[in-house]
Amino acid sequence: MDVKGLFALGRLYPWPRPNRCRLCGSRRIWGHGYVPRYFEGFIYPLWIRRLRCPDCGAVYTLRPDAFVRGFRYSLATIVLSLAETITGKSFLPGPSRQARQYWLKSLKFQASRRGNVLKPDVNTLYALLSRDVIPFTRSVNCAILRL
Ligand SMILES: [Zn+2]
Repeated sequence: MDVKGLFALGRLYPWPRPNRCRLCGSRRIWGHGYVPRYFEGFIYPLWIRRLRCPDCGAVYTLRPDAFVRGFRYSLATIVLSLAETITGKSFLPGPSRQARQYWLKSLKFQASRRGNVLKPDVNTLYALLSRDVIPFTRSVNCAILRL
């Protein structure tokens, strides 16, 4: 999914539509409008498509695949920033100090919870990512969504 194309086309962007509801498996998925969301690199919010399952009432907010739910920075930016923080190298411009601290604390939480690792390193970070765990959130039910 192209974020720049999304910015250029706005609500006209041709969003991919999942075949089935992820909760109940229903094939009926209806449009449910658009919501503004902020993403890295854009000062204005982008219009993001929402879908709704009429059978179970689940609402899905689609998003560019490089971005994880709840984060305005891309997955690559967050992982790179975390790797730099762990190794003590200079920080990337962009993400705030508070955001980086939140990601690091969340990584420590997930590493402790999932692997009993008290001081996570870069290998711990990539091991969590390979298990589809989002290491920079403290949510225990969160997984990387791949459409
Ligand atoms: Zn459903």
